[in-house]
Amino acid sequence: MKTEAEGARLAVAEVPNERPEQHFKGLGVSAGIAVGPAHVVERGLIDVPEYRIESDALDAEIARFREAVSLSVSQIHSLQAKAETLPEEVAGQLRYLLDAHLLMLSGSRLVRGVEARIRNARINAEAAIQVQLSEIAQAFAGMEDSYLAGKIDDVRELSGRLVRNLTRAGYQAFSGLPSGTIIIAEEITPADTALMDPARIGGFAAALGGAEGHTAIMARSLGLPAVLGVAGLAGAVRSGDVVAVDGVRGGLVVNPGEATIARLERRRRALERRERQLARLRRVAAVSRDGERVTLQCNIELPNEMPQAQEAGAEGIGLLRSEFMYMNRDQPPSEDEQYVALKDIVEGMEGAPVTVRTLDVGSDKLAYSLGEHITPSVNPALGLRAVRLSLETPALLEAQIAAILRAGAHGPVRILVPMITSVDEIRHVRKALDKMVRRLTRRRVPIADAPPLGIMIETPGAALAADALAEACEFFSLGTNDLTMYTLAIDRGDEQVAHLYDPLHPAVLRLIRFATDSARRAGIPVNLCGEVAGNPRFTAMLMGFGLRDLSMAPPNVPRVKQRILALDASAASAHAEELLSQSEAGAIGRLIDDFSNGT
Ligand code: PEP
Ligand code: MG
Repeated sequence: MKTEAEGARLAVAEVPNERPEQHFKGLGVSAGIAVGPAHVVERGLIDVPEYRIESDALDAEIARFREAVSLSVSQIHSLQAKAETLPEEVAGQLRYLLDAHLLMLSGSRLVRGVEARIRNARINAEAAIQVQLSEIAQAFAGMEDSYLAGKIDDVRELSGRLVRNLTRAGYQAFSGLPSGTIIIAEEITPADTALMDPARIGGFAAALGGAEGHTAIMARSLGLPAVLGVAGLAGAVRSGDVVAVDGVRGGLVVNPGEATIARLERRRRALERRERQLARLRRVAAVSRDGERVTLQCNIELPNEMPQAQEAGAEGIGLLRSEFMYMNRDQPPSEDEQYVALKDIVEGMEGAPVTVRTLDVGSDKLAYSLGEHITPSVNPALGLRAVRLSLETPALLEAQIAAILRAGAHGPVRILVPMITSVDEIRHVRKALDKMVRRLTRRRVPIADAPPLGIMIETPGAALAADALAEACEFFSLGTNDLTMYTLAIDRGDEQVAHLYDPLHPAVLRLIRFATDSARRAGIPVNLCGEVAGNPRFTAMLMGFGLRDLSMAPPNVPRVKQRILALDASAASAHAEELLSQSEAGAIGRLIDDFSNGT
């Protein structure tokens, strides 16, 4: 798809270099191969304003600082666990460095000094860190011992981490970088990924992150080759080094030699040929050999992904993750701004339905523009997120519903609510919907005619109560990403437990089956928009469960379509029954692969 840009990337890599080739392993989370100059994101100190803290708010400010300290501690623990997977000589050095950072976080001059400054100078925590850092830097500057003087870098790095954790600051635009740049960082957030323009950025790699987190999902949507959870990345790459990202096999090569580049180039061309062949299916309907029709829609995050969805031949937008519109900005978008963005998407789909999901911030999806509404949670995945936040902040929900209703005057829309667990939550959202319909009608604003209100089934509670929930809404969308995470209690974005995250777990399959059957019995449409929908390996199983509407990242549409064309739906049903009788994920995976090899 990105042939020209990728060609340019390889040209950059042909420049000879003397440094030795180094290979790293990680999780290949978004297929594709890219070679290009590295841009290493150093999250240095961020310029933060200084403001005064009133005496009755001092304790709260210190608590905020302590929270940033504990978040930093858990980030460093996570990096330590990763370091242990490296060869001993590298692991030893990293262990030493990270231990020093941990020590500094436990009551060092930095931490004690910041707390004292907040209290005595009555300034905010970010400003206190900066003042304290410059004082420590001055003391270090006078030291003769170059080893000790060098320690200031550690203090500086740690201060940067604390400030970032306080401000939750993201990266700023990657716009000035040379074409084909590969972004390298300790961590890349979903909001950072939303800033990457695939015409300019070649791909990315990071030390942290799992295959089903939103950073990975966003990379797949944008078609950007990406590798996450790369052990030993810190310090191994310098900006300007040539790096190769292999998102298919999960590899990163720093300073690749000619032979490596030639091998990668051959594989990249083969991938491209395959993409070209698949693109020919664009206008072909997804019908199985025995005549079962499946609707294939796309998941998108931002309006700028529309061209990919249109190119893929999407039969609708099955999931618009509206929260991405709230990221990388200071203020949430107004109703009018949302309306204009949604109207463009609705018109772009030319009569095909657009399912807009209301805000699903929280957990790994942070939006600074909502800062005042989101207070840090002990366990963000279980905290005030998604519909819970929407119901706590009616003004945000109402503006969003109004924008969707108005966009619905230009083509079919559906409203989808995330993280629903009870009928009561649906009732409250419906009340807000009815109120907005009344208000806009009174003002004679053109709006959608009774848009369906649906819910995500993405917690075990919702799946098990699907029969009751189906009576209260007009459609279901199965979110297997979160359903897997909450059923197995495994963080989808944590590379340390990525090997345990398995949507083929019998519990997850039974929940999908029960929810699908509940929708059928209640006579409401059901689709599946989790990542399993876009993986052709699972297509037969999902069809076998009775699903006929799948929504996925645009590049996956032709892959899944090709699979459907080769399938027999009645054989898929028998296959699904067999899968449901199994007691463990490994056996289910083997049966799935045997079935694929036979069809
Ligand atoms: C899901 O949870 O499966 C889903 C589609 O929503 P998201 O990935 O945005 O959490
Ligand atoms: Mg979800």
